[in-house]
Amino acid sequence: MTSPEQIAFDQQHIWHPYSSMINPPPMYAVESAEGVRLTLSDGKELIDGMSSWWSVIHGYNHPALNQAAHNQIDKMSHVMFGGLTHEPAIELCKKLVNLSPGNLDKVFLADSGSVAVEVAIKMALQYQHARGKPEKNRLLTIRNGYHGDTFGAMSVCDPVTGMHEIFTGVLPQHFFAPAPSIGFDQPWNQDEITSLYELLKKNHKQIAALILEPIVQGAGGMRFYSPEYLKQTRELCDQFDVLLIADEIATGFGRTGKLFACEHAGVIPDILCVGKALTGGYMTLAATLTNQNVGETISAGGAGCFMHGPTFMGNPLACAVANKSLELLETNDWQANVERLEKGLKSGLQAAIALPHVADVRCLGAIGVIEMKRPVNTTEIQKLFIERGLWIRPFGKLVYIMPPFVMQDQDLETLTNGMVEAVSIYRN
Ligand SMILES: *Cc1c(COP(=O)(O)O)cnc(C)c1O
Repeated sequence: MTSPEQIAFDQQHIWHPYSSMINPPPMYAVESAEGVRLTLSDGKELIDGMSSWWSVIHGYNHPALNQAAHNQIDKMSHVMFGGLTHEPAIELCKKLVNLSPGNLDKVFLADSGSVAVEVAIKMALQYQHARGKPEKNRLLTIRNGYHGDTFGAMSVCDPVTGMHEIFTGVLPQHFFAPAPSIGFDQPWNQDEITSLYELLKKNHKQIAALILEPIVQGAGGMRFYSPEYLKQTRELCDQFDVLLIADEIATGFGRTGKLFACEHAGVIPDILCVGKALTGGYMTLAATLTNQNVGETISAGGAGCFMHGPTFMGNPLACAVANKSLELLETNDWQANVERLEKGLKSGLQAAIALPHVADVRCLGAIGVIEMKRPVNTTEIQKLFIERGLWIRPFGKLVYIMPPFVMQDQDLETLTNGMVEAVSIYRN
């Protein structure tokens, strides 16, 4: 059991995501996790509304995923991927090629989402370079995006809400179109696409690729936008000879109600990033997929190869678990579960819209969002959630949940009721 001394050490010596060394936030120590529940070291159980940052889609301590990890660890947990290959990676890439939209059949295994985005950016730049257009070396993106914390990824995060403002001076300068404003279900208005069109028309000779999160903008604002926007973005990319990079790290593997969010618009990107749910939240693994044209053009270029190769690339243990996770996705009927969760989220969170300090309530797939009128104090509101046996971690004005796909209706009801109740008594 985690002792008070250990917690004190943590507070003094360990960085947590976006944490302070002067004023560390309170920490809850987790002893174990099972299904949709976390058990804290004082024995308290919490229903997890976050799926550990949107990754634990099958729940914790899953017997089939545990077994896959055990089986692989007894063979080898790692081997270098340069010049060597192995069945877990081959079988995983086969699945990714089959599941992903369209003709994406070249797979790069990356160590994390941010690295998958770096790889996508490098692919786009190397592609343009290899086809004799080195001047196409900048990126275009839309505001309110989030693509990760490494430098290339940061440079395409929203410059204001992207949590990276202080690095502005050292980041490469890219082009930003306004965020789409028409919601997922709202009627289309052709004016919505004008700014993006104008930006492309004026600057396409310098632009290698357009990168965006399809349909759901996650950590940049939890916004759901019109599939028509994505559809026309694809058309504009073709018209102006710009690659389309779809960052499906948050949306991939069913979260929005389609296996990939691009499918809401029938769009096939040139480069696709996946991560988060890939291993069912067991360990870090991500992938960047592209098509034959991009893959072969890069390889025929001056460098003769794609210039990237991490030490832990294609980690067999992570690949073996990812294989099993993708298998579970199908056998557990993810689609029926996500539809069920969407219904439960919509009916469970609806009441919050009547609250005076709530600006909006929206749900799509297994994502439920309460947007407040003002930013919340995470530490304070979290106490209200913990008291109600819930794990929810809001940011800014956004109190949101992304439950594991396996969450049963009764737990979902406890989660949404507790969330609405906590929001209703929270004051700042
Ligand atoms: C989480 C996320 C990333 C970064 O992934 P990490 O594994 O945290 O590096 C990139 N893009 C999107 C859309 C994400 O949600």
